[in-house]
Amino acid sequence: MVREVCDGPRVRFAPSPTGGLHVGLVRTALFNWLFARKRGGTFILRIEDTDEARSTEESLRAILDGFRWIGLVWDEGPDVGGPYAPYIQSQRLELYDEHFEKLLAHGRAYHCFCTPEELAERRKQMAATGAPPMYDRRCRRLSEREAEELAQQGRPACLRFRMPEDGLTEFDDLVFGRMQFQNPTLDDFVIRKTSGWPTYNFACVVDDALMKVTHVIRAEQHLSNTPRQVQLLEALGYEPPIYAHVPHVLASDRTKYSKRHGATDLMEFRQQGYLPQAMLNFLALLGWSTGDEQEIMSAEELTERFDLDRVGRSGGIFDTDKLKWMNGQCIRQLPPAELAERLIPVLQSADLLPETLTQEQRAYAVQVAELMAERLRTLNDIVDLGAYFFSDEVSYDEKAKSKWLRKEGVPDVLERLADALEPLPDFSVDAIEQATRGVAAELGISAAKAIHPARAAVTGMTFGPSLFHLLELVGKDRVISRLRKAAELSRADAFAATA
Ligand code: GLU
Repeated sequence: MVREVCDGPRVRFAPSPTGGLHVGLVRTALFNWLFARKRGGTFILRIEDTDEARSTEESLRAILDGFRWIGLVWDEGPDVGGPYAPYIQSQRLELYDEHFEKLLAHGRAYHCFCTPEELAERRKQMAATGAPPMYDRRCRRLSEREAEELAQQGRPACLRFRMPEDGLTEFDDLVFGRMQFQNPTLDDFVIRKTSGWPTYNFACVVDDALMKVTHVIRAEQHLSNTPRQVQLLEALGYEPPIYAHVPHVLASDRTKYSKRHGATDLMEFRQQGYLPQAMLNFLALLGWSTGDEQEIMSAEELTERFDLDRVGRSGGIFDTDKLKWMNGQCIRQLPPAELAERLIPVLQSADLLPETLTQEQRAYAVQVAELMAERLRTLNDIVDLGAYFFSDEVSYDEKAKSKWLRKEGVPDVLERLADALEPLPDFSVDAIEQATRGVAAELGISAAKAIHPARAAVTGMTFGPSLFHLLELVGKDRVISRLRKAAELSRADAFAATA
């Protein structure tokens, strides 16, 4: 059967719902998605849940939620359907059965009655002689009668693929080039388990064919499955798709990026305060490059520029510092109102804002977002860097104490400043600046010697946005009371080193 020519390419991402949504998987999905969008094709999401023991509904939900969060919209798949529905393999078992029958009828599959114990024992013996640990094809040699007898005894049987015993299997991979495998090195692999369910290789091949997939873009680890799949496709009378295997995402030590290197699940990054557009941008550049310096790109720009021919054979390195930098850039591109909407839930979970906000609180959050955008690398940074806008209490960090708050003369400066700011009818940036500089001049100190202690007293930190702007936003009453309180604590030696 010859594959119909579709208008655009049809690609699929086919996760197994057996765990979380690893960022490496998302990167592979993203390459598929960008490829389809760039070429006016179709992006299919197919759920490969034929591992009955390990597949869970929870994992399926996590995958769908993760995709929705990052904006990887699927054209065909669960929830949205499509011309080749269903897109969940456990709902397609009849289709696989038809294909098992076809292979059996053509003599390309056979029943295998070997038990797991027997297989393990024989594999051990083979290993001892230095032979590769492959199935020894014992049941391939059973006569029809012998096989029938075993079946009648009720021995459970799986179905194995009858692999050609000589020749080569070849295909062109868009990333790895021409690939060749000697058929004698390929096993008579299991295609139907004793439970009657298909194995990954079988279900994958049937679905790629039935769903008219034109390009299989998947992780490098599947490169060794591909010759098996090519053989199966040919035996079933289908034309193989074009393959592109993308290299693993690596950590800086050049090993596969995994839990021991840091967060791996897409949703962990969400919890850590990363924006979906930053994740998308960052993951797209893992193993693919534009060929120029441009790094910050919207989904539209990525789509326009993406092509598989710039996907290299060596995997991209997952560099968390770069991700943070990118996230900061994306944060700064958001209009303040939108940034505030993202910061509000973070502030709520840190108990810095109530569950329901007044108009005023919302407007205030927008102002804080505007002032702080420059300093945030993750949304969660707002808690460490801007809690003082929202809480009544200030917690003073060690540097603020040692550099300023326990210095002699500081209480005077803080009190004078409070005295000068209190009567201001208009607590604006300009008026605050004028008053602060006035106090410094009167005391015969540099403006910095007033500005730094004031910042330490009001924010508890030694760095942050422009002092005059932040004082305006914190508001007169809170500023005055914090200046006086810090002066008082300083005089009472409350900032003394404790160690
Ligand atoms: N279910 C397979 C996996 O999660 C899909 C591999 C493929 O894309 O063919 O690794």
